[in-house]
Amino acid sequence: MAKQGEKRGENWLKFLGTAGARFVVTKQLRASGGLWACLEGVNVLVDPGPGCLVRCLNSKPRLDPTRLDALLLSHRHLDHSNDINLMMEAMSEGGFKRRGRVFVPGEALEEDPVVLRYVRGYVEEIVPLKAGGRYQLGPRVGFHTPITHQHGTETYGFVFETPKHTLSYITCTLFFPELAKAYAGCDTLLINTVRLKGDERKDIKHLTLDDARTLIRAIKPRTALLTHFGMTMIRAKPWELAKKLSEETGVEVIAARDGMRHELK
Ligand SMILES: [Zn+2]
Ligand SMILES: [Zn+2]
Repeated sequence: MAKQGEKRGENWLKFLGTAGARFVVTKQLRASGGLWACLEGVNVLVDPGPGCLVRCLNSKPRLDPTRLDALLLSHRHLDHSNDINLMMEAMSEGGFKRRGRVFVPGEALEEDPVVLRYVRGYVEEIVPLKAGGRYQLGPRVGFHTPITHQHGTETYGFVFETPKHTLSYITCTLFFPELAKAYAGCDTLLINTVRLKGDERKDIKHLTLDDARTLIRAIKPRTALLTHFGMTMIRAKPWELAKKLSEETGVEVIAARDGMRHELK
């Protein structure tokens, strides 16, 4: 049976989860398995949160972890990193076939490491990410990590580039104006939109719906995808919020759903 991602030139995303922040994740109101991206046939899994492996194997058609070329972690919080070790084991067929590359912030490897030392030898390479770093995933696919996010732990978003498409993924962060420039020039913009509204609490370092609107207006992608929803977003029906954002910005805005596949055109 043909497996997904085998064909050269395929470009799509599959949402293995759309949950953001602790409450939605621990109650599993939405799944939290991260994002599988197939870029020119190169398979990349971003932020393998709780349930990632189960979601891969239960996907229709099934997503085979041994087809993965790379695992990427934006930061070490559990909703993003919980299944990283398991996915390293699955990608390398239980550690028996040394394969795949892992890209993580240095903090995920150092103190209180989320990448366990005993699984590190299962993969071909572990690359510590840094601000401004550029990384190659295949002859026609690469990504860079333009800027350090404000999220209380070492955090990077990603700009993936293929000859046909640029995909910016703004992961969890407090809003700051430099984000727009860092992720500009993309065809598709993915935003972790955790909160409906901001408030005075300075300890919650996440983007709000207003922040997402500001970023979409500044960056003007062809398509914007919202994901990583916290409780206030879920209650407000993300699909309705996305429709309103489309009208306000003139950009196609889509609220991701668990299991949603999105073609990158
Ligand atoms: Zn986080
Ligand atoms: Zn998060």
